[in-house]
Amino acid sequence: MKKHNFFAGPSILSQYTIQNTADAILNFADTGLSLMEVSHRGKEFIAVSDEARSLVKELLDVPDSHDVIFLGGGASLQFCMVPYNLLKKKASYLDSGSWASKAIKEAKIFGEVEVVASSKSVNYCYIPKDYTVSPDSDYFHITTNNTIFGTQLHAIPEVSIPLAADMSSDIFSRPIDISKFDIIYAGAQKNLAPAGVAIVIVRKDALGKAGRPIPSMLDYQIHIDNESMYNTPPVVPVFAALQTLKWYKELGGIVVMQKKNEEKAAILYDEIDRNRLFTGTVAVEDRSLMNICFVMNDEYKALENDFASFASKAGMVGIKGHRSVGGFRASTYNALPIESVKALVETMQAFEKSV
Ligand SMILES: *Cc1c(COP(=O)(O)O)cnc(C)c1O
Repeated sequence: MKKHNFFAGPSILSQYTIQNTADAILNFADTGLSLMEVSHRGKEFIAVSDEARSLVKELLDVPDSHDVIFLGGGASLQFCMVPYNLLKKKASYLDSGSWASKAIKEAKIFGEVEVVASSKSVNYCYIPKDYTVSPDSDYFHITTNNTIFGTQLHAIPEVSIPLAADMSSDIFSRPIDISKFDIIYAGAQKNLAPAGVAIVIVRKDALGKAGRPIPSMLDYQIHIDNESMYNTPPVVPVFAALQTLKWYKELGGIVVMQKKNEEKAAILYDEIDRNRLFTGTVAVEDRSLMNICFVMNDEYKALENDFASFASKAGMVGIKGHRSVGGFRASTYNALPIESVKALVETMQAFEKSV
């Protein structure tokens, strides 16, 4: 039976990415050797790394003021690398979810942290919008998409200081104005590649000002100077990332992705709103286009397990909600075909009829 992959992360990748990476694991760039057993400093892999970074620049329209690097350690390492490199005295953070709050915890190690607003008391079911950001903060940190709770910033906040953003779960899903940001980071395993690499886009002239010694592996400048090859990079995830980037380009770029994502999300939210069994969990204006959370209405709560097994028998995979929200979460990342969303909607309709 066809499986429809709604996992939140690691998550669905395009068949193009999976097939080309599988081929390279058997025979990389006609070397007769596996991608996993050749030097990362050989010309074949350097070409992969260079092309991947330049495609990120092209697809996201990254200005020359910024550099793109690939780093190990996932997005969570960035929670400390950002303040290590950029926080001089004080930084402001928006507490919009569990990942944001983890970033806040790390930043506090390096200086004063102003939490401008939080929706924690209502289980992060909306994005706070009424707040002021201290003009003397070094940066304002936002999480553009809250993977666990299913909320997303549909407008980038207008503030007078540089922005820093965790875009792990919505990078490449819509165009962004990079020039507003000192730093953007994202773990690969939501919209790009298997886990093991993070992508970082950093404004060059924001670096070198933190006024503290930085260990080499945590110093953005060292990774920029070494073109993401200061140490051995995670070669398989970087190779896979390049395949996904090529696939995005072939399909017409990020604007095309955005259109597809809007279409997919609309189909599923419409069904959640229409179906008498289900209800969304977050403020309508903040609904994520990447992670769509829903629960069963109170009078049908007892049927959640029944729906879970019904959906699983219909080929739906990974729709169990995060333990902090419960219910269901369907992640509709770039690589998820619209057919999968339609199949989920049909499953919801069939279950409704059976009740
Ligand atoms: C998944 C995720 C993370 C954590 O990523 P790791 O690579 O596992 O460290 C951080 N932030 C957001 C928004 C995420 O979705």
